[in-house]
Amino acid sequence: MEENKIPTETNDNIEPGSEMAGGLNFVEQFIKEDLAAGKNGGRLNTRFPPEPNGYLHIGHAKAIIMDFGAAEKFGGTCNLRFDDTNPQKEDTEYVNAIMEDIHWLGYDWEDRLYYASDYFPKLYALAERMIKEGKAYVDEQTSEQIAAQKGTPTVPGQNSPYRDRSPEENLDLFHRMNNGEFPEGSMVLRAKIDMASDNMHFRDPIMYRIIFTPHWRTGEKWKVYPMYDFAHGQSDYFEGVTHSICTLEFVPHRPLYEYFVQELADDTYCPRQIEFNRLNLTYTVMSKRKLLQLVQENLVNGWDDPRMPTLCGLRRRGYTPASIKDFVNRIGYTKYEALNHIELLEHSVREDLNKHATRVSVVQNPVKLVLTNYPEDKVELMSMDNNPEDPQSGSHQMPFGRELWIEREDFMENPPKKFFRLSPDKEVRLKGAYIIKCTGVKKDSEGNIEEIHATYDPETRSGLPGADRKVKGTLHWVNVSTAIDAEVRDYDRLFAVENPSAKEGDFRDLLNPDSLKVRTGVKIEPWLAEQAKPGDHFQFQRLGYYTVDPDSTDGLIVFNKTIGLKDTWAKQSKK
Ligand code: ATP
Ligand code: MG
Repeated sequence: MEENKIPTETNDNIEPGSEMAGGLNFVEQFIKEDLAAGKNGGRLNTRFPPEPNGYLHIGHAKAIIMDFGAAEKFGGTCNLRFDDTNPQKEDTEYVNAIMEDIHWLGYDWEDRLYYASDYFPKLYALAERMIKEGKAYVDEQTSEQIAAQKGTPTVPGQNSPYRDRSPEENLDLFHRMNNGEFPEGSMVLRAKIDMASDNMHFRDPIMYRIIFTPHWRTGEKWKVYPMYDFAHGQSDYFEGVTHSICTLEFVPHRPLYEYFVQELADDTYCPRQIEFNRLNLTYTVMSKRKLLQLVQENLVNGWDDPRMPTLCGLRRRGYTPASIKDFVNRIGYTKYEALNHIELLEHSVREDLNKHATRVSVVQNPVKLVLTNYPEDKVELMSMDNNPEDPQSGSHQMPFGRELWIEREDFMENPPKKFFRLSPDKEVRLKGAYIIKCTGVKKDSEGNIEEIHATYDPETRSGLPGADRKVKGTLHWVNVSTAIDAEVRDYDRLFAVENPSAKEGDFRDLLNPDSLKVRTGVKIEPWLAEQAKPGDHFQFQRLGYYTVDPDSTDGLIVFNKTIGLKDTWAKQSKK
């Protein structure tokens, strides 16, 4: 189909040369070189390291596809490691949801499920060793004082007055920090590196802080918790991770990553950090803090609200793992930050559902059509193809009778010139059935159209001789006596502006107030009502792709509109 052709130039931000021979992106290229050079004994072990402080979003999918995908491609392994170093924000609800979402994407960590909290004893021992070697000290200044001494990229920082305590005193204080003898915020353990370093991250970074909130796994055992920079590289090391792939904001952290890892590594094995650009999507936000706010303040209906960029939200909306992988593949992995167009993601899901979704008839804004020359109680069964894109998919039958629902928008009393749908004295085909001719309308006392009247031509039944007579328009329809009422939830962009994160002020003021419209009394064909199970995808003829929502009950099926049929991306890319 013409509209599905996408020239490669439209790939949002492919760095020239980033897709090298063999279809490898630049990260995979590095991995290939390391493997060829026999580094780490020729092993490949990646990891995906989510902090369980929120649900995964489509940005995380980009990281997951890289981490698990590269392992798959080169016969390596990928660990799942929960980066649970901050008990104040983390929760098992998130842990379970994260595992569900990774499995949904089609990846599995097998027996390689780890937690950074597993390494608290080893990290603590390393901190003790560094204190003894004069490489770390306890600072009793407030966080404001520490920040004020940090300097700027062009102005060197100042040493803390506590910087030159003896190792014995530091060790004693550190132990007592962990015993709970000092209040939260009163002390930190800092690495003693260089307050004048060009790299701000080297200006005596904080290794440990005091937190009294119990940890969901280790309870009250610890009162000190390692900072990201002191936990991440070492956790990679303890697990035997060879390639620690993360996003570009960690580029300035890399020297520190290497500094701490060097405390452990030898020349037979050392993990390597590689960074790629984040996924950012138009008309939404990707910050977990902001997404949490939307949920907590009931600005959306939970983490899995179909308007959310979360994986559970996208799943509920009707996005498939294949469509997400296709999108990530199209935007690629580069070294440049970019804003990716949501229309491209929509293009990917439309392409996937076009291949797999069963076609059904649904009338969302119904008006009654009466075929005045069709017998009162006659019902015919019309054969409808389940999916013309898939010859194996077969067909199903749909009842046809004297009274039918059609879309109100498919009729106009006084149509403009190029209106090829129904209007007085004009003919259209009813999809899979007959050609009909409009003979008039019946109106209520206020002049609203109550019924459209037409006659059908018995010689034109689809699939029979005579059916080849051509008319310009084809309408979808649902038989009135067998139709079932359903609910449809129509979605628009969550935010009213393309890049809400770039705007000043409160991001919540930028929400699109019309992002959800609920339609009730939508008429569906009986076969659809029998089929529909939560998560099933359908193409409603002429309307778009829809997915059955888990809110559906025995009495009422609820559909989420996944995406319309019109491909705005293909259209844009042709301009
Ligand atoms: P925060 O650290 O602010 O809580 P985060 O989104 O970085 O949020 P993590 O749980 O630390 O959350 O992320 C896990 C992994 O997913 C990290 O390796 C991170 O680099 C990657 N990741 C997060 N957001 C994106 C994104 N938008 N695009 C690509 N990768 C991402
Ligand atoms: Mg992070």
